This record gives sequence, structure tokens and C-alpha cells, in this order.
Amino acid sequence: MSSAGEVEYPKKILEYMEGFLVSKTLFAACELGVFDFLLASERPMSAAQVAAGLGTDVDGMERLLSACAGLELLGTQAAVLYSNTDMSRMYLSRSSPRSLFHSVEYYSKTVYLCWNYLTDAVREGKNQYEKAFGLPSEDLFEALYRSDDEMIKFMQLMNSTWNVCGRDVMTAFDLSPFKTIYDLGGCSGALAKQCVRAYPQSSVTIFDLPKVVSTCREHFVSPTDERIFFHEGDFFKDLLPEADLYILARILHDWTDECCVELLSRVHQSCKPGGGVLLVEALLNEDNSGPLTAQLYSLNMLVQTEGRERKASEYSALLTTAGFANVEVQRTGKIYDAILARK
Ligand code: SAM
Repeated sequence: MSSAGEVEYPKKILEYMEGFLVSKTLFAACELGVFDFLLASERPMSAAQVAAGLGTDVDGMERLLSACAGLELLGTQAAVLYSNTDMSRMYLSRSSPRSLFHSVEYYSKTVYLCWNYLTDAVREGKNQYEKAFGLPSEDLFEALYRSDDEMIKFMQLMNSTWNVCGRDVMTAFDLSPFKTIYDLGGCSGALAKQCVRAYPQSSVTIFDLPKVVSTCREHFVSPTDERIFFHEGDFFKDLLPEADLYILARILHDWTDECCVELLSRVHQSCKPGGGVLLVEALLNEDNSGPLTAQLYSLNMLVQTEGRERKASEYSALLTTAGFANVEVQRTGKIYDAILARK
């Protein structure tokens, strides 16, 4: 219900209408290298100095830095010298171990372009790769991995999330009884790294499409990362190796209910008796009341995939249809939650 104040002055509507101005300001500052430049300079800099360093127009840079300061992404001294805040140093510079730089880049270069066609996606009920990138989208991951460069960018996106909340999902349940773990669709291996760190007695095998696994080995996981192994395959077609636990993180949200049951049934067949499956997803509330992030991610799944975000009860139904039992849910309070079920 609207308050009297909101009828007088539609603050929220104005904020929402202009929300993309904020996103684009963040995208541009990252793409131009503002946060990296300020990090490297080690002292507050004027707009003219930043513009000279990054080869941009001075007035344009002055306005960008001022907007970043307004968004609290930069600090200012005497309103003319700019420096990173603790938050931007930690999350927006490329070199930080908790950097979200690659997430921002992917949102700017890919997600934003697909969202241009959100209205069409809602009308048609399907993803918008064809309009956004001129690509047929029958094979979702063929479209997502349309070039090696795009595949690496997607893997960097996946990687950067777990720098921020990977430990929370890996420790939402005590997974120490599971020694042999397969991370199906394990992508860049960021969650596998968090898992072996949290459970020193366990090993994790990253199972993914062949070109993803070879890129993971080449760019993301080093031979010094102990207890991490690799397995190339197609989880819809190839035999899944026997394991104590299968992690499916952000996998089911890509697919229809029918595909999810097919995949979970294959997992159930290969799972050791007493073993389990861990789903990691952004859960919607049972009454659909939120969280807003999961509601928006579900729209993102519409625009970009064949799937959706789901409620815990919906995942539970998929798991039990596939033969799993004892479904437990742990909310982490961050973006992604965890569901554990047993064979
Ligand atoms: N689990 C990772 C994470 O949370 O960071 C990645 C999630 S990503 C949305 C989906 C992953 O599933 C990608 O790494 C993709 O390559 C993999 N994938 C898609 N189809 C696959 C298939 N048929 N067989 C094996 N892996 C597949």
C-alpha cells in the first residue's frame, strides 16, 4: 500500500526508473579502470590526473568521479581529490582476492544486453540470445560459450561470486562425512577450492564440459590446489562416477523441471547409498514475497536460460521425484542458500 508521502512524491518510482543510471556508472568506472588506477596511485588524485592517466576527457571523468563519490564508491578530499573507499578497494579493483570486477564486467557486457529484451522475454516466455547476440539458443551453453573469450568471461563471473559467499554455502551444512565429492558443472573450480579448504579430509572432482574443464585447468585451478581433480563429461549423457556427495551449484536454475528431474535421477543412480546431493541456489520465499534478489534473478533466468529460481518446496519436490529423501534447507542470509538431500 502506498503511503500519503509516496503519492505526493513518487520517490521509489523515480529511483527504479533511473536505477540503470547507477549500474551504468559502476560499469563505466570499472571498464575505464578508475578503481585500479586509484589503487595503483596510492594517493588521492584529481579528476584531471585520473583523466590523463586513463586517457579520457577531463570533464567526462570529473562527472564520472563525482557520481561515483555520490554513490559512495569513492571518497573525496576537499571535493577535488578522489580515492577508493574500503569497499571499492576490496571489491572493485581487479587484483583484490575478493574482487567482483569480473561480475561487473559480465553484467555490463552480456546481462545488460539481454535485459534490453526483458519485455520480449516476458511476452514470449523464452530467453533472448537471438535478439541480443544473433544466436540460436537451442543449446544454451553453445550460446553462452559462443567464443573462447566469452567462455572465460562467464567462468570469471561464476568464480567471483564464490570469492564473496562460497564459504557460507560450503559450511551451511557439516559436509565432513562426505569424502568423495563431485562438483557437477563445477566450472572455474571456485566452489571446489572453498570446499577442500573447509573439509581437509575430502577431495572434490570438478565435472564439466570438456572445454570448460581444460580452461579451468589452464586458467583457474593450479597444480598446487591439492585434493582437486577433474572429469570431462556431459551430465545429461555420460555416466556419472560414484561419489559420496554431488554438489549442484547454480545448475538446476538453468533448466526446466523435466531436465532437473532427469539430471537428479542420474545423480541418484550413481550416488553411494547414504550419500547425498547438495543444491546451492538463490531460494525464493514460500509465499513469493522475496527476497528481491531471487525475484530479479528469476527474471534473469527467463532472459538468459531455460530455467527459473525456485522455492525450497519446489526443489524438495524435484529431489523426491528423483528418489532422494531427508531434504534439509539452510538459508545463509546471503544470496545463495543450500539444500541437502540423502539417498
Ligand atoms: N557450479 C558453478 C558455479 O556455481 O559457479 C557454475 C554454474 S554455471 C551456471 C553452469 C555450469 O554447468 C557451467 O560450468 C557449465 O559449463 C556446466 N554445464 C552446462 N551443461 C553441462 C552439461 N551438459 N554437462 C556438464 N556440465 C554442464
